Amino acid sequence: MTKIKTYGSYLKDKYGVKVKKIPIAVGGFTCPNIDGTVARGGCTFCLNDSFSPNLAKNRDKIFLNLSSKDNPILDNQINQVIEQINRDKKEFATKIGTQKYLAYFQAFTNTYAPFNTLKKLYDVALEQDDIIGLSIGTRSDSVEDKVYEYLSQLSKTKEIWIEFGIQSIYDKTLERINRGHDAKNVQDAIKKAKSYGLNVCGHLIFGLPGENQEMMLNSAKEAFSWGIDSVKFHPLYVVKNTILANEYNRGEFTPISQEEYIDTLVKAIKIMPKDIIVQRVTAGIDDDSLLAPSWCGLSKNYLMNEIKRALAKEGFIY
Ligand code: SF4
Repeated sequence: MTKIKTYGSYLKDKYGVKVKKIPIAVGGFTCPNIDGTVARGGCTFCLNDSFSPNLAKNRDKIFLNLSSKDNPILDNQINQVIEQINRDKKEFATKIGTQKYLAYFQAFTNTYAPFNTLKKLYDVALEQDDIIGLSIGTRSDSVEDKVYEYLSQLSKTKEIWIEFGIQSIYDKTLERINRGHDAKNVQDAIKKAKSYGLNVCGHLIFGLPGENQEMMLNSAKEAFSWGIDSVKFHPLYVVKNTILANEYNRGEFTPISQEEYIDTLVKAIKIMPKDIIVQRVTAGIDDDSLLAPSWCGLSKNYLMNEIKRALAKEGFIY
């Protein structure tokens, strides 16, 4: 049996204790694919203010971008980072006995703000007790050189990861989902991040509109060859109040089935170089914002067992 290298085991081997990522959502952050810089509305599957009036009501009214001159909400953002880290740290320590943490800047595009804001927020996160590093979720078209340089500097003493949405290597798919950049843009960004000595995680989505299994596996194979250190696999699911939800309701999009997703995942893992760390093998949503497919709302334990069973049949332990 071949043991798949998981992120948890990679961190445990490196730091000798259980390490967990703490997700952080910073108010005032947005995305160039939402605010009109690249496009408006965002990726078709993305739940954002453009299509969700309730979300818009609850969000800050100030949004930053790369050319924002000042940041009147910086103190607020700093407090949010500190609060989210300390709240989750306590919960994870009690529930699963974790001892060290990575601050995971997850929501929206976490390099899409003026450098001084980013530097301050990354620094504040790293100053919190037991935070050993950062994972920065972002878009390949939104990282300024000075951010790469700063993260590279931090990576000399901290565990620093950058996460890019690859999703597909097919430009026609990226256009169809209104991604706002092409595949070459992600490939170049990964190369650049690697040249700065950063750890890179690539996100792949199976079940994108118009894609068959061969295309999904080609995307995986190609992405593996771009030098990513780690991968997250997701099925595409439809969230209410998104462009994809409209497409689904009009019958223009059929979600991937559980069987096809798991089959594709297993095949992708079979062709994956063994040194690539797997951070995620599925994703779902357990509230009523999920429109389809219903299997993405099943319990995480159930799905993980199904995936583990399918992988075991092919000689893999996850
Ligand atoms: S890049 Fe991310 S935040 Fe931006 S629109 Fe797409 S999914 Fe949403």
